[in-house]
Order: sequence, then C-alpha cells, then structure tokens
Amino acid sequence: MLDIKITKTASPKAKPADESKLGFGKVFTDHMFIMDYDEGQGWHDPRIVPYGPLSLDPSAVVFHYAQECFEGMKAYRTAENKIQLFRPECNARRMNNTHERLCIPHLPEEDFVQAVKAIVEVEKDWVPHSEGASLYIRPYTIATMAQLGVHASTSYKFIVICSPSGAYYAAGLAPIDIYVEDTYVRACPGGTGFTKCGGNYAVSLLAGQKAEKKGYSQVLWLDSQERRYVEEVGAMNIFFKIDGKLYTAAAQDKGGTVLPGVTRRSIIELLQDWGCEVVEGKLAIDDIMKAAKEGKLEEVFGSGTAAVVSPVKKLDYENQSAFINNGEIGPLTQKLYDTMTGIQWGRVADTKGWIVPVCQA
Ligand SMILES: *Cc1c(COP(=O)(O)O)cnc(C)c1O
Repeated sequence: MLDIKITKTASPKAKPADESKLGFGKVFTDHMFIMDYDEGQGWHDPRIVPYGPLSLDPSAVVFHYAQECFEGMKAYRTAENKIQLFRPECNARRMNNTHERLCIPHLPEEDFVQAVKAIVEVEKDWVPHSEGASLYIRPYTIATMAQLGVHASTSYKFIVICSPSGAYYAAGLAPIDIYVEDTYVRACPGGTGFTKCGGNYAVSLLAGQKAEKKGYSQVLWLDSQERRYVEEVGAMNIFFKIDGKLYTAAAQDKGGTVLPGVTRRSIIELLQDWGCEVVEGKLAIDDIMKAAKEGKLEEVFGSGTAAVVSPVKKLDYENQSAFINNGEIGPLTQKLYDTMTGIQWGRVADTKGWIVPVCQA
C-alpha cells in the first residue's frame, strides 16, 4: 500500500458550467498524483498536489529520446452517484508491458490502481453528471534524468492527471469515413506497436493530417511489411463483420504491432458470450474490399476507451470504396455499444467483474 500524502489546493477552480461544451482533454481538475523514482531508492514520495506545471531540467531524457509512455482510462458516475472504474488492472498491466519495452522500472500494479483510485476520489466532484460524459484519466511516466547520452534514465516521474470530458457522440453514434493508408505505417514487428509510448503517436500525425485534408476522420493502418493486412484505425482497434463472422487483428500483450485494447478484449469476451465467432488474426484489405463488393461486409467499427465503439460507414482504399450498411450503425455494433456503456455507467449488471468501485459522490 502506498502512503499517499494529500495537499489540497487553496484555490479550487470553478467546475464546468455546461458539460455539453467539455469536449475531450481540454479541462483539467484541481489536483494531480505524482510519484518519483530514483535508482537505488525505487518508487517513492507518492503524493496528490495541486495541478500545475512541472519543472524539469532541459536536458531531461524524455525531451530528447522520448523515454515516456501513458495510459488512458475513465471514471464513470452511475445514476446512484457511485464513482467507478472499468478494468483498471488491465491498464496497470499494459503500462508495465510498455515500461518493460522502454527500460522504465516496473511499477507495482496495485500501486497504479491505488494511485488512480486516490486521485479520482479527491476529484470525485469533477466526475461529470450528464449522459455519456466521464472523467478521463491520464496516467503517464516520464524519464527525468538530466543527461544527453542515449541511455535509460535513472530517475522518473509517474503522474496521473484527470480531465472531465464530454460525451464522445453528442448527437448519437455517428458512422465515420476511413482512409486506408498505404504509404506511412504506425508500427513494425519488433517495434513498439503494442505499447502506449508517445513516439507511436508522433509518427502517426502526418498520415492523420493527410487523411483529414482529404475529408476523412481516421486512418486505417496496414502492416509495415506488405501494406496488405489491416491493423488499427487511428488510435483504436478495429473489427470487421464479414458474412456473420468477426475479424480483428491479433494483439499480443508483448511484442506485437497492434495495441492490445482493453475495449477490444472486453468486446471479444462479450461476442464470445453471445455465441459469435471471433477470428483474431490476419485480414487482408483486398479481402475486405471484395467482401464489400459481394455484399458480405456487414459491419465495421473501431474500439477504444474514448469512443467505446466507433462505427465506420465507408473505407477508401486506392481507387476503391467500400460502403458499409448504407451508412447506418449495424445492429451488433449498437448492441456492443449499449452493453459496454451500460456496464460502465452502471445501467447493465456487471456479470463479468469488470467494475471497480471508487467512492460515493
Ligand atoms: C489506446 C489505444 C487503443 C485502445 O485501447 P483501449 O484500452 O481500448 O482504450 C487502440 N489502439 C491504439 C493505437 C491505442 O493507443
């Protein structure tokens, strides 16, 4: 158990008056969790302090060699004003898999979960009340050692900040258009695709901008070696329903090119419970375009913590377009969305043991 020292702010901010205008990740709460690591000492000084700027040496390793990583999760408010988390131990484990790949020291998973619970409890009044809105939680680790040599840092900070965020779909689930990227890649075998390291997102920005200029919401990434097999869509996993079967790229906890999403894993478990066949493996973009032509591409959706599921209405690949379900959200996509959000917001019984209560607020 961490002995977390809490210092409350003397000047709390006003809570957002209009939750419909929150957007995503723009408003931050009054406090943050910080814990330091120093070689020889281990993780120490867990504390909750007023939210504010960090002071780091300009030569800190994080600025030069990107030794850093993050997680993304949410706290939900139920109708009974219970504040709860969704599978936080999965984020803790994934963070450690990322740490291991980036030579960042192990962070005990129970400490990660305790830190998240502690900051959420302190900020419980910041957890939004309106339908679909939640408190987005951003745990992250940065390398702080002052040194320009290319070596793993000997000191780190693990920080957790929180951002009340609005409903992802203010006007109902809106299907999106996707650009299939056949030049740039996100991840390669042996690389860091399975981690949430900042570098993965820096390298994805150019393709994202290119797609945005052409009017698409997201990029569909193909594999780095043949530009043939589908991997992910933007920063979400992706599922295809073809002729009754569901397909998604394989995601290894350690070493793969696809990020093992907590939402992805949960959706697969639900689908299996419902008797749907799920194939985790290679799926060629050519086979998807062919299925669309034959009328067998039934549903396509992205999955991730922010949107939960994000239905796709069109895929553009080279000179071909695949149209999905007349631009409407498919029945299975809708059922997954309703079930996942139902469990998260406490409207559907949690028979899976996925919910971790934090406090009453
Ligand atoms: C975070 C992320 C996901 C989704 O993971 P969840 O745990 O479901 O939020 C998928 N792909 C990428 C690249 C991501 O960064």
